[in-house]
Amino acid sequence: MLYKELVEVYEKLTSTSSKLEKRDILSDFFLVVPDDVLPFVTGLLAGYVFPKWTEKELGIGPKLLLKVISKITGIAEEKIEEYVYSSGDFGEGIEKAIEQKKQQTFFDIKIDIIYLMDLFEKVSAYGGKGSQDKKIKYLSELFSAASPVEARYLSRTILEQMRTGAAEGIILDAISKFSEIPRKEVEKAYLLTNDLGLIALYSKKGADELSKLTVTVGRPLKPMLAQIAGSIESALKDIEEPEMEVKYDGARIQVHKSGAKIKIFSRRLENITEALPEVLSELEITLIPETIICEGEVVAYKDGKIAPFQYVLRRLRRKYQISEISEKIPLKLFLFDCLLIENKSLIDSPLKERRNILISSIKESEIVKMAENKISKDPSEIKEFYNKSIAEGHEGIMIKDYLSQYQPGARGKKWLKVKRTLETLDLVIIGAEWGEGRRKKWLSSLLLGIRDDEGKFLPIGKVATGLSDDLFTEITEQLTPLILEEKGKTVTLVPKIVVEVLYDEIQHSPKYESGFALRFPRVLRVRDDKDAYDSDTISRAYEIYESQEKTF
Ligand code: AMP
Repeated sequence: MLYKELVEVYEKLTSTSSKLEKRDILSDFFLVVPDDVLPFVTGLLAGYVFPKWTEKELGIGPKLLLKVISKITGIAEEKIEEYVYSSGDFGEGIEKAIEQKKQQTFFDIKIDIIYLMDLFEKVSAYGGKGSQDKKIKYLSELFSAASPVEARYLSRTILEQMRTGAAEGIILDAISKFSEIPRKEVEKAYLLTNDLGLIALYSKKGADELSKLTVTVGRPLKPMLAQIAGSIESALKDIEEPEMEVKYDGARIQVHKSGAKIKIFSRRLENITEALPEVLSELEITLIPETIICEGEVVAYKDGKIAPFQYVLRRLRRKYQISEISEKIPLKLFLFDCLLIENKSLIDSPLKERRNILISSIKESEIVKMAENKISKDPSEIKEFYNKSIAEGHEGIMIKDYLSQYQPGARGKKWLKVKRTLETLDLVIIGAEWGEGRRKKWLSSLLLGIRDDEGKFLPIGKVATGLSDDLFTEITEQLTPLILEEKGKTVTLVPKIVVEVLYDEIQHSPKYESGFALRFPRVLRVRDDKDAYDSDTISRAYEIYESQEKTF
């Protein structure tokens, strides 16, 4: 199969905004994709080369790509950058550069999907530094063979900026349609494996084969999440057999052990094993079973006290910025759930059983412990547990239904959270302005975007004050590589960095495209554990807006 055929599908997908039409385009295409490349092609349609939980990544940024395109077209990097800025899209900028070159040459090499798959494998094998030359060699070969439109999509794929609108949900719809397997079954298999390519392939084999896919060590599951409880009393009305746990303020991790091999995944399903060496070595002693998947919260300690959440995130980021982290930040892990034991899935077992299995599966230590819990139905006892948790510096408590099953990825009513802070919104930084005077080196005025149903990020507010110097430095470092366009002091950014924002009130406002504005927004922290697509949505803002109406 040729890459050209995939590009035709991308083009068809962009030409319609109808979800049903997109589904049908994909479904027809899935039927003709050969099995040996089906998983790979499915990933490309969803906008990624490797599922993010694998250890593989291309590791190619905009700078390297510009270098390659400049090398093969003979056009200066600055000129290509101009094309990118004027079109507002990397892919289109590169397409324009390649177009100019093609007018002079008459290459007619066709890019085959298997060739592309092998090439990406090879590029990902050259992970570290000093490998740039090899990556440039492979990419030059690829882009020399690409037609302008192919170059547009290849660069979007490589930079993970695909905008065809083939969101996860539509791909699942299409898989269900072409395989004639009910959507629910397709979705269930996906929730258990987090691999669209695998789901496409197994669905082609039939419903029986698909139903064999289950929780597997090495493939992270989307974490089960909690809703906010209005109050302890209302939570007790919703939950029949409540179990309370301390809500630790750190980062959620999922630990997968098979024999001597242990992997740690983040809430975003990234493999972060290398970032947590001391937790890893402690887990080697703590986890008794041969195979187990368990979950917990990693918390940072400084001078014996719980340190702000930001410290944990700095540790998790170490995978990418190892040298910059010099200080030693001791961590502890509090485990609270168990999803598989000795290769048997536990997600359909009640929490009570999962927790008991977990207790008998670990040897607690100073670093790895069970999350503290309490069983009670008495509001005053629960309040006492909550007060103690807050006094110890934690975020609040979780009230969980002891009889509930584990629902991957669901934010249902089986887990409720009671937090000390006001409700915050996780928003995406979509633009910024360079500061003045002392703030000159910082992107200081930040434009916040909120996600709509189609995955677009619409402005909801600006924030310029209330950030510490450290936070400005950190945010600027993270935003600079994401600059898409720069006009005077104003920059447009790839929507990627999620920040937790506190505000006094949400107001209706025609000023911003989202229809809402935040009163006195303050950035609390960067949410490195969240993708732009995990950020809060306009419907969430609407819910909060509605609940304010009632309380004010
Ligand atoms: P939130 O991020 O506010 O939606 O709260 C859910 C997060 O709380 C989870 O993803 C965990 O990272 C964290 N958390 C802390 N303690 C617990 C606990 N005992 N049980 C479940 N989640 C917890």
